[in-house]
Amino acid sequence: MKKYKIVLLSGDGIGPEISEVSKKVLKKLSKAHNFDIEIIEKLFGGVAYEKYGNPAPDETLIQCKNSDAVLLACVGDVKYDSLARELRPESGLLKLRSALNLFANIRPVKIRKSLIDSSTLKKNIIENVDLIVVRELIGGIYFGNPRGQIYNIKTPKAFNTMVYDSSEIERITEIAIKIANQRRQKICSVDKSNVLEVSQLWRDTVSNVMSKEKRISLSNMYVDNAAMQLVRDPAQFDVILTSNLFGDILSDLAAMLTGSIGMLPSASLNNNGPGVFEPVHGSAPDIAGKNIANPIAMLLSASMMLKIGLSEHNAAESLENAVDKVLSKGFRTADLDDGHSKVLSCSEIGCKIIDEI
Ligand code: NAD
Repeated sequence: MKKYKIVLLSGDGIGPEISEVSKKVLKKLSKAHNFDIEIIEKLFGGVAYEKYGNPAPDETLIQCKNSDAVLLACVGDVKYDSLARELRPESGLLKLRSALNLFANIRPVKIRKSLIDSSTLKKNIIENVDLIVVRELIGGIYFGNPRGQIYNIKTPKAFNTMVYDSSEIERITEIAIKIANQRRQKICSVDKSNVLEVSQLWRDTVSNVMSKEKRISLSNMYVDNAAMQLVRDPAQFDVILTSNLFGDILSDLAAMLTGSIGMLPSASLNNNGPGVFEPVHGSAPDIAGKNIANPIAMLLSASMMLKIGLSEHNAAESLENAVDKVLSKGFRTADLDDGHSKVLSCSEIGCKIIDEI
């Protein structure tokens, strides 16, 4: 029997609620598909700061490095916003991504037929949407130096640096190529090369790498236009390749095409070693502790983990089918309620999904 060791980081806010559902679902899948999964739970984010004064303790990072995959819920809360930047839960995320060298973030956006009316966009605009955002994750403005704030002057200043070297752009382009080759073979690279030097390097490097790829069509788009096109005609996109900051914003925008941010999974990967699989959404402090969060983004992240991280393709498919069956029967969490659905709590919809596996 195949045996896997995964690390589960429940984090903050709704994290423990959606993690509880994920644990039960993974246990059921392991029984149904005959593999053994050891789930090691570690503190990460605000809860780790509370206990160790560090949002990403070394012990957690070491366990993650020694695992087959990491399943992460979400971190953050307004109560940590006044901490020094390096102590905030979000800095823990950046530390984890750096520690595991997770340079590629993959976010699939696919419309589930049963949820077509949950989107704020018209049905005919979104019905054929099936795209993937490939975002560079450990470079660009979130990591660039110099960065800082200068307060002891008459007019306080703050600054960040958006920087890439060509090797960082090449390796993320290679990932986009791999993914496009398994899909409709279209890459749209998004930048702001009309204004930013770093984007000009991005565009030149992507074009250079792509010049060897005869089967894939490449288009380039400025990020402001890409934001507009994502709501005007999102079905035109297959693979969107972009940098850390632009990918952060565009992938949340793309998330809303599906009806709720509570539906979108993601995978953060390197070329070898464990990946981190996590929902796109944050810790939703406004609904935490109420048992009303939507656990599906985390379950679909678990499905990506089974497929990409553990090569348990049948288990991943069985989980996706179970989610679809529950949704097609009209069961929803509150975020997806269209006024006609049967609204369930986080744990109740989890049980329905488990019953379908
Ligand atoms: P958010 O994604 O937490 O919430 C945005 C809105 O979506 C809220 O109304 C929330 O209730 C709703 N929502 C999110 N996930 C949901 C789910 N699964 N089910 C139902 N509704 C859901 O974003 P925010 O409010 O901007 O940030 C809250 C905290 O999360 C902040 O501290 C932020 O820094 C952090 N954050 C963490 C991550 C992460 O852990 N990867 C990502 C984004 C934000």
